[in-house]
This record gives sequence, C-alpha cells and structure tokens, in this order.
Amino acid sequence: MDEQLLQDVAARAARYLNGLDERSVAPSQEAVDALRELDVPLPNSPTDPAEVIALLDRVGSPATYAMAGGRYFGFVIGGSVPASVAANWLSVAWDNNAGLKIGHPIGVKLEQIALRWTLDLLGMPAESAGVFVTGATMANFTCLAAARHWALERVGWDAENDGLFGAPPITVVIGDEAHSSVIKALGMVGLGRKRVIRVPTDEQGRMIASAFPESLPSPAIVILQAGNVNTGAFDPLDEVIDKAHALGAWVHVDGAFGLWAAASPTRKHLIKGFEKADSWATDAHKWLNVPYDSGIAFVRDAAVLRATMAMGAAYLIRGEEAEPSDYSPELSRRGRGIDAWAALLSLGKQGTAAMIDRCCDHAQTFAAGLRAAGFEVPHEVVLNQVLVRFGDDDTTLRVIKAIQEEGTMWASSTRWHGKAALRISVSSWATTNEDVQRSLDAMIRCAKREMATVQ
Ligand SMILES: *Cc1c(COP(=O)(O)O)cnc(C)c1O
Repeated sequence: MDEQLLQDVAARAARYLNGLDERSVAPSQEAVDALRELDVPLPNSPTDPAEVIALLDRVGSPATYAMAGGRYFGFVIGGSVPASVAANWLSVAWDNNAGLKIGHPIGVKLEQIALRWTLDLLGMPAESAGVFVTGATMANFTCLAAARHWALERVGWDAENDGLFGAPPITVVIGDEAHSSVIKALGMVGLGRKRVIRVPTDEQGRMIASAFPESLPSPAIVILQAGNVNTGAFDPLDEVIDKAHALGAWVHVDGAFGLWAAASPTRKHLIKGFEKADSWATDAHKWLNVPYDSGIAFVRDAAVLRATMAMGAAYLIRGEEAEPSDYSPELSRRGRGIDAWAALLSLGKQGTAAMIDRCCDHAQTFAAGLRAAGFEVPHEVVLNQVLVRFGDDDTTLRVIKAIQEEGTMWASSTRWHGKAALRISVSSWATTNEDVQRSLDAMIRCAKREMATVQ
C-alpha cells in the first residue's frame, strides 16, 4: 500500500475539517454545478490513485454541506466525534467483513461491546439482543419483522417459512405523527402502509393516551415514538406501553434520535417507561455522532429476533453463540460497532450525557432568541428540535431560502400542522455557544431583511 496516498488523504481531510468554520454551510451553486466535470465516460486506461484523490478533493469537497461543522442544523443529522472518524478510517483499512465472527473478530467483539454499553447507558433491559444496521429505517424494519414473527407464532403461523398469504391478520396501531420511515417499514414487512389504526396526537405531536383503543383484535403490534421529528416531543410511553401490554400487544418504540435522551440524567424523565417496550429502533449516526451509516435495532427477546433473521436452522444448535448475521437482515456488512465503540469510549457516560444536554440547551437558546426577536416558535421546546415561523407561509419560505443562501447556518423547511416552518435540529457534538449566537444573528438578520421587502 502506498503510505503517501493515505497521508495525503489525511492531510486533505484535516484541511477540510479545519476550514469548515470559514466557509458557507451550504455549498455554492457553482461548486454543485462544477460536479459536471466528473461526468465523463469510464476511461479505458487507469488513473494514478493520487490523482483520483486530488480530483475528488478539488471538485468534491467544495460541493459538500458542512454537516461535520457546528452550524448545520438540517433534518436530524449529527456530526462525528473525532475518535469515531479515526476509528472508522482504521477499520476501513482492515476491510474485514462483520457478518460473521470468523470474518471480523475485532469488529464483532466491538459491536457486542458497543451494544452492551448502549443498553447500559440508556437503562434498557440487559438481556436484549441488538444489531447494527444502516439506519433507523432499517432498525424499524428489523424490529417490525421480529414483531411480525412473534405475532404470527402466537396464532400458530410461521411467517418466515410460509409467508403472509393466508396468514391470520395482525392489528397494527401507530400514532398519527409516526415518522414516514415507520410507515415505509410497515410496507416492507408486508403489514401494509395503510392497514393501520391511527391514534390521534395532541398539539405537540404526542399520541393522546386517552384516545388509545380500549380493545385490540389479537395479535397486535403497537408502534410508539420517542422524539417527534418536528417538535422533539415524546408519546406518553409509560402509560401507553402499559395499556398496550394489558391488551396483549407487542410494543415497538421508534427512538431514532429521542432514545438518546435516556443517556442524560436531566432529560431522561421525558422517556420514562420506554424500557418496558419489546423492541426499539435508534440511530447512532444521529445523536451518538458517528459516521454514516449506523442505526441500531434492539429486541428484548433475543430468540425472537434470531428466529426472524437467522439463515437456515443453525441457530437451533444449543449453546452455539450467535453471529451478527443471525440478528441482521444483512450478511456481509461493515463493522459499524467499531465507530460506536470509539465514540462511546472517547465520551464516556458523562461525555455522552453532556453532549445531549448541550444540544438541548442550545435548542432552548435558539427558541428564546427567536421569540425575543418577535418570531413564532409554535411548540414547547423539550429536546433538540426547534420550529420557527416568520409570519405567513410565503414569507416563512422566503426567509428560509434567504437563510440557507446566506450560509452562516443551514436548516431545513418543514410543515407543522399545515403551516411552513424552519426546523432547527441541534444534534452535533461540534456546535458551540458561539455557533448558536452567530446562527441566531444570521437568522434574525435575514428575516428582518426579507420581511422589510414588500413582495
Ligand atoms: C431519522 C428518523 C428515522 C429514519 O432514520 P434513518 O436513519 O434516516 O433511516 C426514523 N424515525 C425518526 C423519528 C427519525 O427522526
């Protein structure tokens, strides 16, 4: 291996990261347009790897969003803590395959440790099985496939071997504000995107516990949410999990970012009771701040997940230790647990809690600053998500565009209860008080300028 190549790319990456503070968070239109330069037919002859990297950096780096920096607040996107970036690089050099222990001894070991640490950090049942997947969409899929196995086994049907044609029906209950990826996952596991009972939600986007059905045809799967993607609000997990269990249902919690609230002594009251559920989906690439792609599926009853995902009957051999692929929809896979292990080890419990708290405190600062400037924050800010409106829909959309183009910060637009809003998601370890102040100033400046312009 050419050592020079790796040293060169490390220097380029460091230059990129160190330059983030000075550049616009969104790439310029010219930089995105310049990607055309790459659009050539596959050359016949080889290109020197050093030239490949130089081209990638010269054309590619300016066309990125500064998601790794402290002033990117779009969607729910964390950064990557330094130890996880560096560990990721080393593990890419290893190029082992984490589907089986024999393919990646260190990767599988660190996956098991990272899963055990996460269960401990979040206060979840220690016996739960977990597995790293690509993201929360696949974690929801994995957990719902396990729930489907459980539900049909109870009525004497073998979902994996016999499929769903002719199977007894499964009742599915979701909150009216369930994330679109949950709906998609329901389609992928054959339970149907539309074949669901929707429970109404309140003005914060939380399921209304008193509106939860009094009875449910068995078998049933209930899907709850920890962290509404717009408001950060939590379904009343403690109460609804008890109700659902009393009706004999499997309870799944989508906590793509909200599950990490459990790591913080000052925020964990928000997620009270979540540990009573049967399965949980979360993302490490959101609030744990590891590189893409990295989600985690947890299922309390390891045997159910194994029966759902293991290939063949090898899992029936008593005493045989499970392989990651026994719990995963994938066979060949990268060692995602390595990045998570490095992040958790470098942060510790205190560092993880401090990162979560810092993001939540920044969200409060944003809300207070925007309200003080006269703008509408149309919800209670309980976690890391802040919505803001700048007058009517047209003006709000115009201000959002101006903010995105101005470049100090970047946040996405959303619709909340039928109205346009800017959604600020504070999910990165890298965001400082100064970043928040600079971003607030930029938003207020852009809004005042746009609102003074009569259209
Ligand atoms: C982001 C998110 C998802 C989907 O996660 P991916 O990692 O993008 O697949 C699911 N649910 C909620 C609440 C989310 O915020």
